[in-house]
Amino acid sequence: MSDRGNDDLGDLLRQVRVAASPFRTRLNALYEDYLPVREGRVADYIPELARADPDAFGIAVVDIKSREVFEVGSCSDLFTIQSVSKAFIHGLALEDYGRDHVLTRVGVEPTGDAFNSMIKLEGQSHRPHNPMVNAGAIATAALIKGEDSPAKLKRVLEMFSRYIGREPTIDASVYTSEKTTGHRNRAIAHLLLNFGMLPPNLDEILDLYFQQCSIMVTAKDLAVMAATLANGGVNPLSGERALAAEYVQDVLSVMFSCGMYDFSGEWLYRVGLPAKSGVGGGLTAVAPGRLGIGVFSPPLDEKGNSVRGVAVCEALSQDLGLHVFSSPETWSTPG
Ligand code: GLN
Repeated sequence: MSDRGNDDLGDLLRQVRVAASPFRTRLNALYEDYLPVREGRVADYIPELARADPDAFGIAVVDIKSREVFEVGSCSDLFTIQSVSKAFIHGLALEDYGRDHVLTRVGVEPTGDAFNSMIKLEGQSHRPHNPMVNAGAIATAALIKGEDSPAKLKRVLEMFSRYIGREPTIDASVYTSEKTTGHRNRAIAHLLLNFGMLPPNLDEILDLYFQQCSIMVTAKDLAVMAATLANGGVNPLSGERALAAEYVQDVLSVMFSCGMYDFSGEWLYRVGLPAKSGVGGGLTAVAPGRLGIGVFSPPLDEKGNSVRGVAVCEALSQDLGLHVFSSPETWSTPG
């Protein structure tokens, strides 16, 4: 048999095994359980997001040891990454400038406030509290190296391509809409400039921020991105390093304490995983050393987190014993 034949047979056997796995059955059941949920509202601050299908729903899990990908529902639908990007841009800023310098520009303290809160900067330093709220994410975008705007964007896209294993694209209409209506983010940037926390090229910085938010991903992409962080910064499917090992812990720590905005404390209590959500309906959650979860479901709760995404992650965390403070006796692996 040719090598290709062996590969095909291997794929087929894998598919049969995956189709028959109890975990896949459980994932299908979770999907069926939460699809009828009618709570939450699709983001409507720009018309492009308001058009999202409230019934689009996908759950993807990537196991880093077996490198298996489990998917149910709309796992190939593209949507804008929005604030999920903030965690990964934080990683790139750390690679560009190192921990000490990044900490002079943005802190690591949860705010307990909404993601787009305007007024809160840290007392003496005037740092935004953390890179997961808009103020901190804009300050972090300002740190991305590159000789001009296209070069910076290119580096951002290249970084995401290492995480997802394909070239990402930008939703041009979401980007244009964010840019023309982003008065609140513009005001935040001006406030940061006023306190000497941003250089004066605000348009360029905000452009990069709006572009990073408009990158299109799928639920599967979010699961692979989470699995990459779970795997010490190496994409478990491609074997490519996406983030220097020394910064994985920093990125995960901030996701852990601040990734779900002013729901972060309750999320920790219930789910216990580093995670990041976005107003496009995406949610990525990391079980370090074990697996990555990606969920897509556009209806959001009042804090801006995907309603089905939160529910599914809580159920998966309980099922597999993923909470970082769970007892090893409760751990199990998908398969
Ligand atoms: N583009 C959005 C904004 O800046 C992202 C917010 C989010 O996903 N929470 O307001």
